Amino acid sequence: MAERVIPLVDHRTAALPLPRAQTPVAAGTLLDARARPLRDLRISITDRCNFRCGYCMPKDVFDGNYAYLPHAALLSFEEITRLARLFVARGVSKLRLTGGEPLLRKGIETLVAQLAALRTPDGRKPDITLTTNGSLLMRKARALKAAGLDRVTVSLDGLDDAVFRRMNDVDFPVADVLAGIEAAQAAGLAPVKVNMVVKRGTNDDQILPMARRFRGSGVTLRFIEYMDVGATNGWRMDEVLPSADALRRLQAEHALTPLSASAPGETAERWGYIGAGGGHDPALGEVGFISSVTQAFCGDCNRARLSMDGKLFLCLFASQGYDLRALLRGGADDAQIDAAVSAIWQARANRYSELRASLPPDAAGGSRRVEMSYIGG
Ligand code: SAM
Ligand code: SF4
Ligand code: SF4
Repeated sequence: MAERVIPLVDHRTAALPLPRAQTPVAAGTLLDARARPLRDLRISITDRCNFRCGYCMPKDVFDGNYAYLPHAALLSFEEITRLARLFVARGVSKLRLTGGEPLLRKGIETLVAQLAALRTPDGRKPDITLTTNGSLLMRKARALKAAGLDRVTVSLDGLDDAVFRRMNDVDFPVADVLAGIEAAQAAGLAPVKVNMVVKRGTNDDQILPMARRFRGSGVTLRFIEYMDVGATNGWRMDEVLPSADALRRLQAEHALTPLSASAPGETAERWGYIGAGGGHDPALGEVGFISSVTQAFCGDCNRARLSMDGKLFLCLFASQGYDLRALLRGGADDAQIDAAVSAIWQARANRYSELRASLPPDAAGGSRRVEMSYIGG
C-alpha cells in the first residue's frame, strides 16, 4: 500500500487562522481551516473486492500477488464504533460504509447495528448508508435494513451485459446487480441511488439506456466523471466525459429542470424530470451529476475518510493519512482521540479539485496517491 502516515502532533492548531463561520453551526462542531464543518464520515471496512473495475482495481495490479492487509490490521467493529461515536459527537451526521466491497466484510450487519445505536448531540440517529457494487445485495438487503441501515448506493456502469462484464472485469452479469437493487428497494433501503462512472469510449453509450431504465423507478441515477484518483488506473483526461456533455445527451431525449441541492456539501448537481404539468414530477424522479473533474466542489466539502486500518484522510486525493489506530491500540482515552481528531480537522485546507488544473501532474501525491479501494468513494 502506497500511503504515508503522518504522526499525530498537536501543535498543528497553533498557527491556524481563526475559522470564518459561514453558516451557524452547533457548539462542538469542528470547522476546518476553510470554515468547512465535519459532517460526513466515510468508513472503508475492507481493501478487498470481488470486482476488478479498471478505473479502481485494475487486474494487472490487483492480481494474485497483491498484498492485502491481514485481518489483524483492520479496525475491529468495536474500534470503528468507538471512533464513529467520537465523530458523531463532533457533528458528523452521516456515516457511509464503503471499501473495497463492504459487503465482503463478514458480519457487517453487526457493525451496522452498533452504528445505528449512536446518537448525535441533539439525540438523532445518524444517517447510515453504504456504497456497494450490488453483487451481494440480493442476499443481504433485508438483514442490513433490519440492522438499521437507512439507504444504499449501488454502483452500476451500464445495462448492456457485455459492456458491464467488461467494466467489472470478472464477468459479473448486470441482471444480478439489478436484482440486488430491487431487493434493496423491497427492503425499504430507500431512496436507492445508482452511481455510474462514465468513461468516454467505454460506456458512454450506456447513459441513455440507464436513464430510461431508472426514470420513474424510484431510483436516483447519478453520473460520475471518471476521476484521476489513485495511481494505478492510467487515468487520461480524454477518457473523461464532462457532465455537461452527459446532460446534453439526456436533454435530447428528456425534459429536465435544475433542482436545488438537498443538503450543504451535496456532491451531485440535481436535475428533475419534467412531467405533464410542466414542472418537476417527483414520480419520474431525478438524475444527478458528480463532476469532480470539470467542476470542483471543494468549497463546502464536509467529508472525512477512514481507511480499514484506521488512517484518517482529509481528501480523496490525499497521499497521507493520520494514524488513529495507533492511538486506539496505544491506550489513548476518548478525550485524547477527540483532541487529535479536532486538531487534524481544524488544520485541514485540502481542495485538490479546485487546484487540479494549476497543479503539476505529480501533485497531490502523484504516484503515492492512495487508491479509491483503500479509502472508499
Ligand atoms: N465497491 C463499492 C462500489 O463499487 O460501490 C464501494 C467502493 S468504490 C471505491 C466507491 C465508488 O467509487 C463507486 O461508486 C465507484 O464507481 C467509484 N469509483 C472508483 N474509482 C473511480 C474513479 N476512478 N473515478 C470515479 N469514480 C470511481
Ligand atoms: Fe470494487 Fe467498487 Fe472498486 Fe469496482 S469500484 S473495483 S466494485 S471497490
Ligand atoms: Fe473534498 Fe478533496 Fe474532493 Fe475537494 S478534492 S471535494 S476537498 S475530497
